[in-house]
Amino acid sequence: MNKLLGLHHITAIAADAQQNYDFYSKVLGLRLVKKTVNFDDPKTYHFYFGNEVGTPGGILTFFPWANVSRGKNGAGMATEIGYSVPKGSLNFWKARFEKLNVHHDIGGERFGEKHVAFQDPDGLRLNLIEAKQKDERKGWETAELKVDVAIKGFHSVTLTLNRIKATATILTEVFGYKQVEQDDNLFRYQTDAVENAAIVDLLEMPHAQRGLNSAGTNHHVAFRVKDEETLMDFREKIAARGLYVTDKINRDYFFSIYFREPGGVLFEIATDNPGFATDETVENLGSSLQLPDQYKPMRDEIEKGLPELQIK
Ligand code: ZN
Repeated sequence: MNKLLGLHHITAIAADAQQNYDFYSKVLGLRLVKKTVNFDDPKTYHFYFGNEVGTPGGILTFFPWANVSRGKNGAGMATEIGYSVPKGSLNFWKARFEKLNVHHDIGGERFGEKHVAFQDPDGLRLNLIEAKQKDERKGWETAELKVDVAIKGFHSVTLTLNRIKATATILTEVFGYKQVEQDDNLFRYQTDAVENAAIVDLLEMPHAQRGLNSAGTNHHVAFRVKDEETLMDFREKIAARGLYVTDKINRDYFFSIYFREPGGVLFEIATDNPGFATDETVENLGSSLQLPDQYKPMRDEIEKGLPELQIK
């Protein structure tokens, strides 16, 4: 009851909007479930990629800032996004990455799970993982990527930290995670509140420099709760630890609070409600630019200020 339900979405920074769209929709086969603008900066798109309806636990979102410089991974940042893929699909993905010139490694194993790590065109680090845990989530199908290989949603996120202790305390004492594995300086935390998107890996690197948040790096990690009442319960728990936490913010497709955890990573908690099928039908998700109420009167101006985008 009223638990934190693993990951909700992860938001990262990209440079070129078209390149970003092409990579996530065509190469990875995710569905663009919402094309809107950055609510705090309407000259910038905000893309949401996920499965058919954009189920929480598998939503990757981007702010593509044209001509922005490359960021740098480092401490105080989410440094790898782990996606769950069907068992036996990694060879297919490796061959696909080779064919499409996607920068990737030869594959490996972490805590008994096989994976292939790769990077998007901006250098954002991602990983395809064959999860030990049962994962019955159905990926979005495209002409080239059927359900036997399609990405199912998040498996995990990795945070790089100078010291893990304070961050681990938030995960365990506030979010309900438990440490389940450790290998040298890599610590795995997992919640049993959900089956999937339930893992946060903490990588402790005492001498790592702080990351630089720009293209090719993650901006924040959002955790999931059922509804606004639960959201406000968590807000109280976070504030009680003396951390600054924002008021509830309406993001149109969910309600959110934000706080910077003591290790430096920007955390968000977001609700399941109302979801993405509020301003367009499930069938039409992502097909046209959606604007929040405050920007609707400025649609013409906003559309003119956004880079052109070829969808499909
Ligand atoms: Zn967010």
